[in-house]
Amino acid sequence: MPSNGGRTKAPSRIETANGRSEARSCPQCASKRIGTTKAPYTFRYGAGREAAEITVAVDVRKCQACGLQFLDDAAEDVKHEAICRHLGVMTPREIRALRRSLRLSRQEFAKLTRLGEATLGRWERGALVQNAANDTLLFLLKFPDNLKRLAQRQRRARA
Ligand SMILES: [Zn+2]
Repeated sequence: MPSNGGRTKAPSRIETANGRSEARSCPQCASKRIGTTKAPYTFRYGAGREAAEITVAVDVRKCQACGLQFLDDAAEDVKHEAICRHLGVMTPREIRALRRSLRLSRQEFAKLTRLGEATLGRWERGALVQNAANDTLLFLLKFPDNLKRLAQRQRRARA
């Protein structure tokens, strides 16, 4: 079973495209000889009757020097995406793609939707899952008409 081996020292990290980081050296011995294999990983999500077991394929890192196996943020991203799919809401990747397709900065998007900019950032980084109502708002913004209506409404409110 992959684990972080009770890490005592933060591994050195490389930034990924979406601003998360991945381990580049072993958290146990600091060796930079890290191999990667895909392996199924099952985790529980939710509680009580809502609880579900979700299985994803994650990149398991293995230190070639000391043999420690561990998961890093890349695995967290995969898990988060699976949770979004399980809940039927947009994934961080989809939210970023939506905002970029509208050619809006986070600040502009937040202003238009009246969402918090920090909250939007958390959704886009996969630090937080948007609730169903906010997910519905995001979904509707995929349609350019709706974006126009929102912008009109704001212009009117300012006039
Ligand atoms: Zn090691």
